[in-house]
Amino acid sequence: MTVRTRFAPSPTGLLHIGNARAALFNFLYARHHGGKFLLRVEDTDRERSTQKAVDVLFDGLAWMGIQSDEEPVFQSTRQERHAQVAHELLERGLAYRCYCTAEELKEMRETAMAEGRPPRYNGMWRDRDPADAPKDTPHTVRIKAPREGETVLHDLVQGEVRVANAEMDDMIILRADGTPVYQLAVVVDDHDMDITHVIRGDDHLTNTFRQAMIYRAMGWDLPKFAHLPLIHGPDGAKLSKRHGAQSVVEFREMGYLPEALNNYLLRLGWGHGDAEILSREEQIRLFDLDGVGRSPSRMDYAKLLHINGVWMRQADDARLTDDVMDRLSQMDGVSTDEAMRARVLRLMPGLKERAKTLVELADSAAFLGRSIPLSFDAKAQKLLTPENRAMLARLGAALGALAPFDGPGIDATLRQFAEENELKLGKVAQPLRAAVTGSSMSPGIDDTLLALGRDEVLARIKAVADE
Ligand code: GLU
Repeated sequence: MTVRTRFAPSPTGLLHIGNARAALFNFLYARHHGGKFLLRVEDTDRERSTQKAVDVLFDGLAWMGIQSDEEPVFQSTRQERHAQVAHELLERGLAYRCYCTAEELKEMRETAMAEGRPPRYNGMWRDRDPADAPKDTPHTVRIKAPREGETVLHDLVQGEVRVANAEMDDMIILRADGTPVYQLAVVVDDHDMDITHVIRGDDHLTNTFRQAMIYRAMGWDLPKFAHLPLIHGPDGAKLSKRHGAQSVVEFREMGYLPEALNNYLLRLGWGHGDAEILSREEQIRLFDLDGVGRSPSRMDYAKLLHINGVWMRQADDARLTDDVMDRLSQMDGVSTDEAMRARVLRLMPGLKERAKTLVELADSAAFLGRSIPLSFDAKAQKLLTPENRAMLARLGAALGALAPFDGPGIDATLRQFAEENELKLGKVAQPLRAAVTGSSMSPGIDDTLLALGRDEVLARIKAVADE
């Protein structure tokens, strides 16, 4: 059997990290077993499923590096097929037309509740002679739920889960306007797409029991199910806005790398020994459903930030530079020309050591593209005392005489200058850093000067020395 999994999101306008994690698990499971991962857009709610909402999904998945192995299926295009299955069940006597009016259903619910029973449909049209059917009255189609026994699922994460069939009522599969309901659409699509494993959030567990009725009535094999515990907030409550970011786009804007978000989401609720940082290849090699835990996982934003830092340090300098240049182009007063790009790229090894997100990285690189006069933060201003400015004027002359302007030369000049002036190296380097960056923090001073280049360094020193 070739494994075929799917991710079946409803376009809501955002890709929630819970869904992104389900997508990742489906993707990795298929890859691990040499199977296929498919995408189905559950877009039957035509009002919500705008092109924009679909784009958000596709963009989010592409950014996460989760690609479908076949053309995506749009559920809304398959409504005729869904209805056809309902009609087949009708013909085979496994479903029936229900002519209940809204008032009758309301009364049914109220009576059930008054008698302390759960409000279920009482099956009033189940065994009635179709000849009794009122003329020209709208009807729904209901499936005949099994009344005895129980339905047992061997869930690959939750283990054995059972429900007494008496708990389930004859659910509607076609609405009065002839449109199929969600439960029917999912089953027909999963069957037609030859899905072997349905991996989704455990909020779908009750749906699964209802869907099982349709599989059984059609005589179709059930796929294997794996219901994933949901992601909770750090306090154990359902993850919500007040906990922090929840959607893939938010994390992207906050400067997370897709590898880091993937790595974090994978580890959230799945484990393999103490493996923490895993490449995509390792993820595919190691992922299986037996490593998925049964209890809800708690979102740990600090850990995600840490993992992002690790991935940033491993990331390619040119790629980080591209991202930083994009972010810098949104900032005021920062040049993003080719010369600036070259500076950022040159300093990237030092910059990426110090930043945990791409936003921090861009902030820390911005000084390279600002024009004179720089603005100085409080610490830098404190360093730029009149004595230090005078010292910098002399240091500027020494650096100006340096040829070539290279790492060893800069280092030797600074050391010699410190010695001659009976200063500790830091007492020279810190004011210098303040003068050329506007702040008290940057990568190593030699690298910082090299990235700026001689002319810019001398101009920045002169600007503070002359003030
Ligand atoms: N469309 C459903 C959702 O977004 C998922 C259905 C499924 O995975 O079966 O929650």
